Order: sequence, then C-alpha cells, then structure tokens
Amino acid sequence: MTRLLLRGGRVVDPAARRDGIADLLVENGRLSRIGERLDAASADVVDASGKLVFPGFIDLHVHLREPGFEYKESILSGAQAAAAGGFSAVCAMANTDPVNDHRTVTRWIADRAREAGFSRVYPIGAITKGMRGEELSEFGEMKEAGAVAVSDDGRWVANGSVMRRALEYATLFDLPVATHAEDESLSGRGAMNEGRVSTRLGLSAQPAEAESIAVARDLTLCELAGGRLHVCHVSTARSVALIREAKARGVRVTCEVTPHHLFLTDEEVARSGFSTATKVNPPLRGERDVAALHEALLDGTIDALATDHAPHHADEKAVDYESAPFGLVGLETAASLFHDRLVRTGRVPVARMVELFSGGPARAFSLPGGGLVEGKDADFTVFDPAAEVEVDPRAFRSRARNTPFAGARLTGAVAATYVAGREVYRRP
Ligand SMILES: [Zn+2]
Repeated sequence: MTRLLLRGGRVVDPAARRDGIADLLVENGRLSRIGERLDAASADVVDASGKLVFPGFIDLHVHLREPGFEYKESILSGAQAAAAGGFSAVCAMANTDPVNDHRTVTRWIADRAREAGFSRVYPIGAITKGMRGEELSEFGEMKEAGAVAVSDDGRWVANGSVMRRALEYATLFDLPVATHAEDESLSGRGAMNEGRVSTRLGLSAQPAEAESIAVARDLTLCELAGGRLHVCHVSTARSVALIREAKARGVRVTCEVTPHHLFLTDEEVARSGFSTATKVNPPLRGERDVAALHEALLDGTIDALATDHAPHHADEKAVDYESAPFGLVGLETAASLFHDRLVRTGRVPVARMVELFSGGPARAFSLPGGGLVEGKDADFTVFDPAAEVEVDPRAFRSRARNTPFAGARLTGAVAATYVAGREVYRRP
C-alpha cells in the first residue's frame, strides 16, 4: 500500500466548512484521513507548513486542440499545463477536428487523457453535428463515452428551436448545455469591444449587447424547455444582471468568468500596442462591465472561474490585429493572478477562491471532486501564498505562449498538484 502524508498545511475546503491546519493522509490514491497530527508510519511525508491545501482545481472551459490542431496544443501538453496551473481536472471543448460530436471522438479524447496521466480531462460533446447549429448530436452516447456537458463553444446555436430541443434532449441525460452567448448578426465577430476605445483605435468592434441578447434568449429557452444552462465566459454587466435575476426565479443556470475579463479592460488593446494576445472572444470589455463581474463574483452569481485556455501557434498570432485568431492561454496563470489581485488584496476571501476554482465548477457540471472527502480520490492543490513569481511564457508547459500577462509580477503560486494521490506537478 502506498501512503502519503501531507503535513501541516492550512486546509481550506468551504464545502466541508473546513479552514485550519491539518494533515492529509492518502492511501492507495484515496484521501483516507484529514486531521491533526496523523500517524506517519511507513508514509512518504511531505511538509506543507506555510502552504494552503485546496481541493483540486477544476476548469470547466479549455481548448486542448487535439485531435486536429496538435501544433497548437495536444492533450498531453494541455494536461501538463493544467497540472502546472493547479487544475486536477479540466473540461475539453468540442471544437476539435474532427469535432467531438460522436462517441468515438469522445472516447478517444478520454482514452488519450488517461494515457497522458497528468490532470483529468473530461470531454465536452458538441450540441450539434459539426457544430453547424442544425442537427443535434447523440447526447446519450457521448455521455456514455465520458462527456460531462454539451457545447458548441466558439459558436452560438443561433436557431432558437434547435437550442430549445437541445435543452429538452439534454434533460434526459442530465447534461448541462454550455452556451457561447454571441449573436453573430450583431457582433459581426468584431475584433474588440465596441466603445470609446474601439472608436479611437478604429478597429472593428462588437457591442456588449451581442452577448447579453444571446444570454437573454438562452435563459428564456431554459425556462421554457427545462434543463441546465451554463453560460460560458460571461463578460458584460447586463449578462450578469440577467443571470442573477434568472437564478432568483429558480432557473437552473450556472456561469463562469475568466481571469482576463476580470483583470483587463479594452484599454489593454491600446496599452499593449495592439498585442494580439489581447484579442479574445468575448472581447475585453469596459470598466463598468468589469466592475459588474467583480460584484457578481462576490454575491454568488458567478459559479466558476474558468480560463477559456485557447492556445494558438505564434505564427497565427503574429499578424495584424484584425486578422489574428481569438484566444489566449490561461491555465498556468489563473491561480496566481486571482490570488495576487483579489485574495492577497483582501477583496475576495480565500474560501471564495476555492469555491470558484473547485466546488462551484464541480457542482455546475456534476463532476467528482470539489471538496476534500475521506474515502474519495485524493485530488488536491497545494498553493504557496508567499511565492513571488513573474509570468514567463517561455516556461509554460503549454505549447502556446499567447498571454497578455507576460512579465506580470505576482504573489502566490501553485506549489504542487495531486491527482488520485499522485503528484502530477511540483513547482521547480
Ligand atoms: Zn466561447
């Protein structure tokens, strides 16, 4: 029997109302005990004093690019990046090539992730075949093969009756339907947020309403059809207000926010000298929207922190702003950014950080984990709140380097990540 004793860390697990110094005993991949001064006989002992010990982080929204775009990222490099970011589990979006719209692709992704052996990877199946927004995929078969949600992320299901049937069909399998809320007839896929900055810069732009109108429709359909709606990367004040009201009415809706929408505004496009690492969809918004996201983070409207990790090859991003693809990488910077900007500064309690990184996401997609429970898989994240780091994209495990946070000096870093009691990352 393998035994590991993690000794003397501050264990923070709001799901169990736990916050205090404790030891964690892991036996054969499971958490066998949490308590004070546990017996270390025949165990490998790891000193966690001065560190925070959290239930493993779960990211509901990543793009791992395999199959089809391995030059951007692979399941292996993505799972390594996840482990380095403290995420013991990530959910992989369906916009691969071929699209994950069939159980054979779903199973293949799940198998590849198991072989990779770093963080757990849960596949997300496409809502519609080929993500064309027309014909529903076989939700039940994909769920059997390992899918934990359905999403056409990257595209909105523009046809209302298709989305209505998707929500109805998903109830049969209790699968959340994750929506990329963007009315493309309004957004035109503009390169940045529409406002004073876009006018000044003369770039093509998309209004915040392209998102909130799509959110309003999807919430309305969720009330009509039932089911569970999850709003991806919510970014506008109006969207969070709509979600807050819907939750109060009892609609089964959850939502996520990304670190870049929390910590950057559209001014960053200019400030960075049109760095294409700031080109993301939904776009970086204005100050009012960012303030509303922070409020929603604290009042519980936002359920999860998700990175929308979107790796691109350097050559693809090394073009003019209008032509560059949308997306940035976030797995390896999310926890440090969140800790440095919000927890260290006292704006968000550390327990709320754990909720957003672990408990909230686990509940949204009904995933294992989200808390430290005796007898369950030993998935946990050890965090060093005092570590000083500088974001260095060259050191990323991810194959991609497209981050707008390069050079940022942050306090707090993931020290180690464990999946089923196995160390999958240790900070060098
Ligand atoms: Zn999206």
